Amino acid sequence: MDLNAPVENLKGVGPKTAEILKKFGIKTVKDLFYNLPRDYENYEAPTSIAEIRPGKVVIKGKIEQLSTRRARRRNLSVTEGVIRDNTGAIKVVWFNQSYRLKQFSSEKEYYFTGNYELKNGRYSLISPSAAEATQIDPTTGLGPVYVAHGGLKSGDFRRLISGSRDKFALVPDLLPSARPGERREALYAAHFPDSSKSVEAAREYLAYEELFELILAAKLNRRENEKLKAPEIPFQLEKVKTFLGTLPFTLTGAQKKAAWEIFQDMERREPMNRLLQGDVGSGKTMVAALAAYGAVLAEQQVALLAPTAILAAQHFEGLSKVLGGLGVRVELLTGATKDKAILKDQIKAGEVDLVIGTHALLTDDTEFAQLGLVIIDEQHRFGVEQRQKLMLKSPASLAPHLLAMTATPIPRSLQLTVFGDLDVSVLNEMPKGRQPIKTQILREIEVRERLYPRIVDTVAAKNQVYWICKAINDDPRTETTSVKSRTAKLQKLFPKMTIEYLHGRMKPAEKDAIMERFSRGEIQILVSTTVVEVGVDVPNATLMVIENAESYGLAQLHQLRGRVGRGTVASECYLLTSGEIPPSRRLRELEKSNDGFHLAEVDLKLRGPGEIYGALQHGALDLRIATLSDTRLIRRAQKDVTEFLKNPENMVKYEELRAGIKKYQQLTTLN
Ligand code: ADP
Ligand code: MG
Repeated sequence: MDLNAPVENLKGVGPKTAEILKKFGIKTVKDLFYNLPRDYENYEAPTSIAEIRPGKVVIKGKIEQLSTRRARRRNLSVTEGVIRDNTGAIKVVWFNQSYRLKQFSSEKEYYFTGNYELKNGRYSLISPSAAEATQIDPTTGLGPVYVAHGGLKSGDFRRLISGSRDKFALVPDLLPSARPGERREALYAAHFPDSSKSVEAAREYLAYEELFELILAAKLNRRENEKLKAPEIPFQLEKVKTFLGTLPFTLTGAQKKAAWEIFQDMERREPMNRLLQGDVGSGKTMVAALAAYGAVLAEQQVALLAPTAILAAQHFEGLSKVLGGLGVRVELLTGATKDKAILKDQIKAGEVDLVIGTHALLTDDTEFAQLGLVIIDEQHRFGVEQRQKLMLKSPASLAPHLLAMTATPIPRSLQLTVFGDLDVSVLNEMPKGRQPIKTQILREIEVRERLYPRIVDTVAAKNQVYWICKAINDDPRTETTSVKSRTAKLQKLFPKMTIEYLHGRMKPAEKDAIMERFSRGEIQILVSTTVVEVGVDVPNATLMVIENAESYGLAQLHQLRGRVGRGTVASECYLLTSGEIPPSRRLRELEKSNDGFHLAEVDLKLRGPGEIYGALQHGALDLRIATLSDTRLIRRAQKDVTEFLKNPENMVKYEELRAGIKKYQQLTTLN
């Protein structure tokens, strides 16, 4: 028997249990061993019942007289019993845990830990966790706590693992850079901890192992990318200069540098795989335009993928303006495009140079004659599969170059791990004349006095206002004001202003019409849901109000705020809160800083990477243990992977490692 043996081979795993385990991805002995405890209960030094005092307690005893009843309050079940040791007995109560009824055998001893407190006029042990005494090492008292899976409780996992104690001898070494036996010891100690120190050491090793696999996967992806062939796109200096001469502004130094890096990448035969990172308003689109122009000059087609129809339409308009005059044929392909079939035929025939679109670009019947460059705006908005779909649209044996753009900067630790040292260009400089956005947290009671006058002044100065609301329709359960009723309220207050609303459920044509009028300055206040969050560019808008600011994440707030401050007039942003509780750290950080890179680091600390980045958002990258903010461990793993890859035989020799990183390879790719 080895680690890859099916779980059924273990003692105590019948077909029913195996079925449940499989549902949760636990198929082999290895999977079970890697199903690590979520936490540890400390059952150390139990008190005898005779000496019990209110507060957190640990006791050891048998349980009797268990029963469950419904409480008067609906939806609440109460399971009660008596715990007895040889000094006395106390009452125990669990709420909504009726499975406790079947958990215990009256013959066996258990550890319990929880609060001993006064409830309904008598002292009881309230909702304690419990573990069979034989499963807990009496000298340490540490009890692993497992996540329950479909009817299998933490105690069931403890039993399964206890029954397989001797099978840990099967665990082979995995990494050449670890001490022989370290993996086996770590896994064993994680499940059978003999001190909190050994748990810590075990978790450190397991986190290291996980990071090693992740980094290795990312580096291998990079190698594979390097093996592909892409069209060579020669850099045509004179033509690019002419193009730049047509623009109403000069590029920032950062834009020039990024464009230069991109041109250099595209001149090579291996596909570019570059991330263009730039805070909101830093001018990424212009860099994309340059790259696209370069590719079109080399007779390549270019696809630009945007996350929303509004944004695609805006890119279409902007890029047609700058590239159309140079003989580049630009087209827009979204769900709302009329005569899609005709356009698709033209794309397939190679008659369209630059196609800008939304998800509509990804359908199977959108084919290209020669797709040489793929640009993905707001890349973290797309899943891996979606990006890959677009990359595979090149018919020839050549792979397209890839330029991914994002305003949500990827912190260094993630760059090194998840994205494997990917190539990054950074726009760390704002176009000339930009002024920082003055941001203020405002309680609702201050709105009348402090915000309304600002709105009046802004409109009087011929500038425009965004007002962001949470919901499309009113919801009586929450007290959020919807776009519709906010529009009505504002209209009453400011009868002379043109006020319109925008939200994601409007028809695309309606949305476009509103955005169109807003960008022409015909609407003074645009009340909107977060559909304007991504990329929308109306430099004349200088005041942003975000209602229910507490309900958004930091990155999203920063993105929203980035809709203003895009022109030369100083802009402001008001974050409205109910004022019932002090403002969160998120809002305070936003008030203090305009720097998206700084805010991204803060966000990573506050939320963890899982919620922030692309596929990771969907929980696909569920790191068991490692945290991507542990830079010390990341550095070490990074170094060891580099060493590992120096010897080409390693990938053959370390078979288990090779098989294990497949799942990460899917995730850690930009293309
Ligand atoms: P983002 O990086 O958020 O996508 P955009 O590409 O939308 O930013 O650019 C923001 C605004 O700045 C646009 O109106 C664009 O025309 C303008 N812009 C871009 N580059 C420059 C520059 N070098 N100088 C002045 N304005 C610029
Ligand atoms: Mg943009």
